[in-house]
Amino acid sequence: MAKIPYAKEALKNLFKSPVTKKYPQVAAEIPEGYRGKIKFDADTCVGCGMCIRVCAAGSIEKKIVPKEGAQDITMTFDMGSCTFCGLCSDFCPKKSIELTKEYSMITGAGERIIISGTFEKKLPPKPDPAKIAAAKAAAAAKKAATEAENK
Ligand code: SF4
Ligand code: SF4
Repeated sequence: MAKIPYAKEALKNLFKSPVTKKYPQVAAEIPEGYRGKIKFDADTCVGCGMCIRVCAAGSIEKKIVPKEGAQDITMTFDMGSCTFCGLCSDFCPKKSIELTKEYSMITGAGERIIISGTFEKKLPPKPDPAKIAAAKAAAAAKKAATEAENK
């Protein structure tokens, strides 16, 4: 009788549990330090732009909409081009960026996964022209008085 190649191996494997996981029914085990989907905290961000400077993938954008006495700043993180290097999080002085353990990032065709947040940044008050003129006049008067005294 001809030998069936690997028959013994096949029979042995029939009674073993599968080596693959039943994802997505069974969630994957995430190792410590895993860098997944970005979480952005717009409440602590100050819009310094450091994250944009260190992002080699160019995945971060900052949009500014000016308004009276303030700016609306929107930060966006494009998960489609992000390499999950974590530099934006490491360099953020306000700890506003976190790379979570979320690994499931599935979209439909043509859809993008964008993480974004908007916050308002107050601008310093505009100088009052009348006050500036008054201060200049006072300084000129003081200078003239000092010069007169020294004569
Ligand atoms: S997320 Fe952090 S590094 Fe980026 S603009 Fe905001 S404060 Fe700056
Ligand atoms: S993890 Fe890296 S690639 Fe992704 S947004 Fe941050 S700096 Fe850019």
